[in-house]
Amino acid sequence: MNRDAVEFRQAARQAVDWIAAYLEDPRRFPVVPPMEPGDLLRALPSCAPEEGEPLQEILADFHRSILPAVTHWNHPRFLAYFAISASGAGVLGELLAAAINANGMLWQTSPAGTELEQVTLGWLRRWLHLPEDFFGIIFDTASVSTFHAIAAARQQAAPEVRSEGGGAALTLYCSEHAHSSVDKAAIALGIGLRNVRKIAVDAEFRMRPDLLEEAVAADRRNGRRPFCVVATVGTTSTTSVDPVRDIVDVAQRHGLWLHVDAAYAGAAAILPEYRHILDGAERADSIVVNPHKWLLTPLDLSAFYTRRPEVLREAFALVPEYLRTAEDARAIHFMDYGLPLGRRFRALKLWFVMRHFGRRGIERVLRSHIAMAQELARWIDADERFERVAPVPFSVVCFRLKGPDEANRRLLEQVNATGQAFLSHTVLHGRFVLRIAVGNLGTTEADLREVWRLVQEKAQALS
Ligand code: PLP
Repeated sequence: MNRDAVEFRQAARQAVDWIAAYLEDPRRFPVVPPMEPGDLLRALPSCAPEEGEPLQEILADFHRSILPAVTHWNHPRFLAYFAISASGAGVLGELLAAAINANGMLWQTSPAGTELEQVTLGWLRRWLHLPEDFFGIIFDTASVSTFHAIAAARQQAAPEVRSEGGGAALTLYCSEHAHSSVDKAAIALGIGLRNVRKIAVDAEFRMRPDLLEEAVAADRRNGRRPFCVVATVGTTSTTSVDPVRDIVDVAQRHGLWLHVDAAYAGAAAILPEYRHILDGAERADSIVVNPHKWLLTPLDLSAFYTRRPEVLREAFALVPEYLRTAEDARAIHFMDYGLPLGRRFRALKLWFVMRHFGRRGIERVLRSHIAMAQELARWIDADERFERVAPVPFSVVCFRLKGPDEANRRLLEQVNATGQAFLSHTVLHGRFVLRIAVGNLGTTEADLREVWRLVQEKAQALS
């Protein structure tokens, strides 16, 4: 065996042993590292080495310098944003995909990548009860999936924009609680932020279809070109669910593309008792669900489905001669359906995760997260110093200390500064609100009890 292979084998064994111990017990680390911006920058050399270094030394520096600067998303008390899990099965898929290093731009350049993407997204589509004719493609993030949805919507409404540019007066609709990726897509696609209509929500933060109807009709009367609506199933702040069925009715009445952003909560539709959250999505033009959010798959993997792949292809296909192949008529080339040419073998990790957990295993995890969040909501409701400020349809709880925003801000800072838990915040009705999101495989009810005790203790000290 050559010396490089011997060295790799030894270092790789150590790294895998470390990964196994880490995933088993990430609690050894503070959730958020006690460091200041620039600390790691100052600790590392400003120039790369001239001569190569042994893997052992690099591994040692990983432990010495890099790990202390990591925020541990794998920590069971990481309860901020949407908490996630890198399951062992998913990490294994990622490791093997990195080793294979296939670029799946064409079928020929990665038959396994292309066809496993079709297989795994077919499995997921069935788990989500989406129609068989929904075409699936993997992107890195929901932001990029939504960008492609809006690009396809524009292609449908104004095909001339592809060659001529422009597209003046094209108008896009979403709720005031939609994710900022909708705005970013509007910026990137030249729609313009001024042409994104933020539709008001009801008392439970759901888009009001009557106001959507009014806004579209008014824009039409004023000579504008409504072209796309984005409905959200599981909004970022409160996980509210827009009434997709009613929104589809409006969209279809006006011939608009309907995209459903179910990046986080879509996973819950795997549960029979939550299947209804995607009611109406079967009539949508596209939908995004992120397995890297609540389906135990390591970052990054976003599943994008559309019933109109031909429109997506019209928007993006551009094949130079050197990328033409003998299989063009018989195979899918995923590069034709999106912006990236190069594509990682992401489907491998999803395949590992879906097979290792199975539908039943995933259902157990989702149900336990939802049950824990609901139990936490009950504890909060029982403490009169606090108020809960949104329903808890999934695994996220929004609450605040009764009183000024400043006290809530300090409460959040003080809890997070302990390194024992990491919570995040949002603003609802103009008020600062704390958010606890359950989404990690290792989180237990005892963790939540401990975190809630910590919040209560810090709140007591503040008062
Ligand atoms: N959509 C929703 C509802 C989200 O909450 C988020 C992120 O939290 C996104 C889209 C963007 O996800 P990504 O980070 O995969 O781009």
